[in-house]
Amino acid sequence: MADCIFCRIARGEIPSEIVHQDDELVAFRDVNPQAPTHILIIPKEHIESTLALSEAHDRLVGRVHRLAADLARKEGIAERGFRLVLNTNREAGQSVFHLHFHLLGGRPMHWPPG
Ligand code: 5GP
Ligand code: ZN
Repeated sequence: MADCIFCRIARGEIPSEIVHQDDELVAFRDVNPQAPTHILIIPKEHIESTLALSEAHDRLVGRVHRLAADLARKEGIAERGFRLVLNTNREAGQSVFHLHFHLLGGRPMHWPPG
């Protein structure tokens, strides 16, 4: 999508600190980190939210989880613990309407979430 900020990051049109890139996924550091590790994992394909997922995306979503585990290991937070957060629509706090998973860690997390 031409004017989507995350599509533009995936195309390299907006600079970001990319930590992983392959044919389907891009992972980059959040510009406004909420924890010592705060990485966003996105599909290159423009998918608006969880609600737009179809069966054809099942493998892609599985890959996101395995990539999150790999990145957590690389960041040194796998054993301590981390969160993979997916906000869907306004009340959950989704502000960018291109599917993205927040990988958060490096500090104690609270429950219930705010
Ligand atoms: P949401 O609130 O939609 O779940 O998360 C959107 C996230 O994208 C926020 O944590 C915000 O800081 C991050 N973000 C928004 N614009 C940019 C950007 O241009 N670059 C990077 N690296 N992160 C962004
Ligand atoms: Zn997009």
